[in-house]
This record gives sequence, C-alpha cells and structure tokens, in this order.
Amino acid sequence: MIHDFTYLKPETLQEALSMLCEHRDDCKIICGGQSLLIVMRQGLLVTDYLIDIKGLKELSYINYSENEGFKIGATTTHRMIETSEMIKQKCPVLSAVEKRLASIQVRNWGTIAGNLAHGDSSGDLAPTLIALDAKIKLASSRGSRIVPLEAFYTGLFETALEKDELVTEVQIPPVRPKTAVAYKKFNLIENDQAIVGVAAAVTVENGGACKEARVVLSNAGVTPIRARSAEMALIGKKLAGPLLVKAGEAASGDADPVSDIHASEDYRRHLVKVLTERMVKQAWGQAVHS
Ligand SMILES: Cc1cc2nc3c(=O)[nH]c(=O)nc-3n(C[C@H](O)[C@H](O)[C@H](O)COP(=O)(O)OP(=O)(O)OC[C@H]3O[C@@H](n4cnc5c(N)ncnc54)[C@H](O)[C@@H]3O)c2cc1C
Repeated sequence: MIHDFTYLKPETLQEALSMLCEHRDDCKIICGGQSLLIVMRQGLLVTDYLIDIKGLKELSYINYSENEGFKIGATTTHRMIETSEMIKQKCPVLSAVEKRLASIQVRNWGTIAGNLAHGDSSGDLAPTLIALDAKIKLASSRGSRIVPLEAFYTGLFETALEKDELVTEVQIPPVRPKTAVAYKKFNLIENDQAIVGVAAAVTVENGGACKEARVVLSNAGVTPIRARSAEMALIGKKLAGPLLVKAGEAASGDADPVSDIHASEDYRRHLVKVLTERMVKQAWGQAVHS
C-alpha cells in the first residue's frame, strides 16, 4: 500500500527547485514513476511530498552540436532517445541500448534522468554513458553543478544528489575519432534488467594499437564499476585473442558481484569475462573501420 502524500505539480523548473528547497527533508521527485512507484508500493519508500516534474517541457530535449556533443534534458523519455535520428547517426550505441531497455510502454514514459537517478546498478544507461564519458548536470535553488557520471554513484541506490538538487541534463561529448562504444547485457527475460552488462569504449591509434579504453560493468557491484585492470591490460596493445582473454579475466577480477535469486557470484564473474571479451572485440572492430 502506498502511504498518503501531498502531490505537487510545478509548472517551471524554478518552481520545482523552490518546492524541493522548501520540502527538502521529506520529499521525492517523481518523473515517469516507472521505478519510484514500485519502491513506494513495496513500502520501501515513504514520503510526505511528491514533486512531479514530468510536465516540465523545458527539460525535454535532445540537442547536438559538433563541438559539445549531446545535451539531453532530464525529462526526455527513453523512446525519444531510441528514435532520435541524430542519436542513431552520432551515437548509435545509445539508441541500440534504449531499444533493449524495458518494454516499449516503460520506454514511452520512463526518462533518462529517472533511470540514472534511481541508482540501480543493473541499469543499462549508466555503464553506457560512463563509457561515453558523459556528465550530469544537477541544479538546486543555490545554482547548478556538473558532475562526471562516473562520480555520481556513491553506493547501493545512492547518488551524489543533495536533498535540494535534481538532475536537469545529461551531457555526452562528441565521440572521438577512431573510437567506438559497444554494450551488451545478459538477461533472462528479453528487454529486462541485466543479470550483468558490459560497456566497452575503444580508441585505436593509426598503427592499430589501443590508445584509450573504458570498460564499465553493470550489476557487478553496488554501483556501475570501471574495470580499470581490464582497461590497463588493453592500452598500448594490438588486438589479439589472448589479449581479449586477459582483459576479460581482469574485468572479472575488478567486478564485485553478489549471489542472488537470478545468478550466483561465480556465474556473474564468468559473464563479465565473456561479455568483456566480446564487447572489446566489437568496439575495437568498429573503431578501426570508423
Ligand atoms: C518492467 C520494467 C522493466 C525495466 N527494465 C529496465 C531495463 O531493462 N534496463 C534499465 O536500465 N532500466 C529498466 N527499468 C527501469 C526504468 O527504465 C527506469 O528506472 C525508468 O526509466 C525511470 O524513469 P522514470 O522517469 O520513470 O523515473 P521515476 O520512477 O519517476 O524516478 C526514479 C528515481 O529517480 C528520481 N528522479 C527522477 N527524475 C529525477 C530528476 N530529474 N532528478 C533527480 N531525481 C530524479 C526519483 O526521485 C526516483 O528516486 C525497468 C523498469 C520496469 C518497470
């Protein structure tokens, strides 16, 4: 049962920030409600005030410039991102990830900021966006700040958001030349949350060696995890079977998964190894031909 609360519907971002400031000790932002209502129904979250920002059209946009890359507003839905021609063209990994994220009903209503702010380590967007070196813009009535998405996750379902802050924008820099990003999740139910997921970003040099790499894991710890040992194993090397195996094993060591009803810790480590090999290979191949 959901406990009683007072429902507030601001008409502007400024109004939302004032409400958030006023009720900071006992309020929660709701946008699409796709994740929040589940935890409220389970009784895991009780709040006196719900501030509904779904109607804030000023936060619903996908902008692109060659210099700055993408700026995506907080209330932009998954479906808008999935179907954006500009994203398909300039950041195809993101539309591919969105296509396999939840059902079309959830994608039609759920939003990019809701997904990220929920702080679920099994989410698909955070690892992909961290591999893309994305940043997140947070605002309060005190002002705004920009945080690397990687630093946004602080613990189990915990983020760097202060009580009076909300997410207003996600910023994705232009993909560098000779760079590609790939993401794959392993899941038991099609389009459901990942048992484990791996995002890999690879930049290649003219000689074919790996110049930069990012390997990011989902649902392999309490937050999205940068598999830095795997990245170090790749940088400066040329693509070869044994290198992929080494990177996969390193990522498996970097993971910190738990056993639960969906999969054991060992199985999750195995999946991290296999998916890292595959995603690094895929990103590398695409980077060479880009
Ligand atoms: C059946 C089902 C399947 C799913 N499958 C997947 C999947 O495969 N992959 C995946 O990644 N996700 C999946 N999800 C999760 C879902 O996609 C996202 O969590 C959802 O998009 C959240 O967006 P929302 O706007 O509905 O957020 P809400 O539910 O409204 O909010 C979620 C959380 O974010 C906070 N919040 C929302 N907007 C802001 C903001 N602008 N600033 C600060 N805090 C904010 C809320 O306070 C709350 O804590 C699934 C969900 C369902 C119900």
